[in-house]
Amino acid sequence: MTSTAQRSVSESAAAHLWPHFSRLSAFATGSVPVITRGEGAHIFDENGKRYLDGLAGLFVVQAGHGRRELAAAAAAQASELAYFPLWSHVHPKAVELAERIAHEAPGDLNRVFFTTSGSEAVETAWKLAKQYFKLAGKPGKHKVISRTTAYHGTTHGALSITGVQPYRAPFEPLVPGAHKVPTTNFYRAPEHADDLEAFGVWAADQIETAIVAEGPDTVAAVFLEPVQNSGGCFTPPPGYFARVRAICDRHDVLLVSDEVICAWGRLGHAFGATRFGYQPDIITCAKGLTSGYSPLGAAIISDRLAEPFLHGDATFLHGYTFGGHPVSCAVALANLDIFDREDLYGRVRDNAAALRSTLERLHDLPIVGDVRGDGYFLAVELVKDKATKESFTDEESERILRGYVSTALFDGGLYCRTDDRGDPVIQISPPLICGQPEFDEIESVLREVLTKAVGML
Ligand code: PLP
Repeated sequence: MTSTAQRSVSESAAAHLWPHFSRLSAFATGSVPVITRGEGAHIFDENGKRYLDGLAGLFVVQAGHGRRELAAAAAAQASELAYFPLWSHVHPKAVELAERIAHEAPGDLNRVFFTTSGSEAVETAWKLAKQYFKLAGKPGKHKVISRTTAYHGTTHGALSITGVQPYRAPFEPLVPGAHKVPTTNFYRAPEHADDLEAFGVWAADQIETAIVAEGPDTVAAVFLEPVQNSGGCFTPPPGYFARVRAICDRHDVLLVSDEVICAWGRLGHAFGATRFGYQPDIITCAKGLTSGYSPLGAAIISDRLAEPFLHGDATFLHGYTFGGHPVSCAVALANLDIFDREDLYGRVRDNAAALRSTLERLHDLPIVGDVRGDGYFLAVELVKDKATKESFTDEESERILRGYVSTALFDGGLYCRTDDRGDPVIQISPPLICGQPEFDEIESVLREVLTKAVGML
């Protein structure tokens, strides 16, 4: 090993750290940004330069950075009981948090299984669905249906549900029985492009077609996000979820609402299912539950699914050492206190239209094809030709989007995400404490960078 005495943090990162979902070659120069501090809606790098956190870290930091009371809640819990597992024994903060989550969750979602991450929550939901149907006398029901381009996590089960092909390919073969249906991308609707409701009916019916094709006796669950992130904030057309719910009921298939991003205020409610008025059988969540001050995820499960496990020796043989960690549960409770005290859900509902109309000002740029999403969760789709909706070639994506837009936004003081898992989009998902001044700051950096990008076409 070489001496570390003279190295900068980013040089050490280049030598030893394996960053997630990143090209190691991009780190090789030793010039990777190092973020050292956060305050409110802003983050700061090692040189003290300030950036607006337009992505809430990674759809996580709902309450904003630098909340001393969340740090204090973590410290107090770590001093009292730093760790104990949720295996056979319980600890008070997990119980209190489970009760509070059940109280906020829609309908009969009364049972909370804690994890440390979103992938684990998704993994948990699939495994629970399989075992539930075994106990319910339908052992053949094990398959899952989800949407193309959707991201549901990286563990083998969750990755099988994920529909982002490049993320899957290196790890094939994945878990068998995970099938994909079309998204609700109305901007590029393959059918009913002039009628949103008809498109919604069509998109929902694709799920029924898949269930029937696979055999209803073999399908356990459908995994959907309230608003699909990957591909760029695809919202559900009116009536979509009501129709999906009816399809699931018809075939005794569970509806899992994967709300790892959409829960905890991102759409102006505790849960996206509440925002769109549907009743899932399981909600998976993580990220914003603690605003990122400590890792925590959860699968929130209906009474019906828990029922067969209430008797005799039936056991869900599944768990994680750190699932429901006492420090994370204490932080989550303090975080939800902030949400209540500052009415962050109401704040999102009150300001969502303003965020959207601020970004819609960018429509005057020829490179902006679509602005879509819901709440504080929006995507700006970039196109080469606005009239035809033609997208970029691979070479243009590499040169303009990866080579210029993404770094120029950051250099311009805006941390957000350019994403080309589907057609290229810029994703905006700020902390829930943001208002018009931050919206204007986002728009102004986007405008400057995208105006220059037009000149590169
Ligand atoms: N599900 C959805 C909808 C997500 O957006 C994510 C992560 O972004 C996950 C699951 C996986 O969560 P994690 O990265 O915490 O494992």
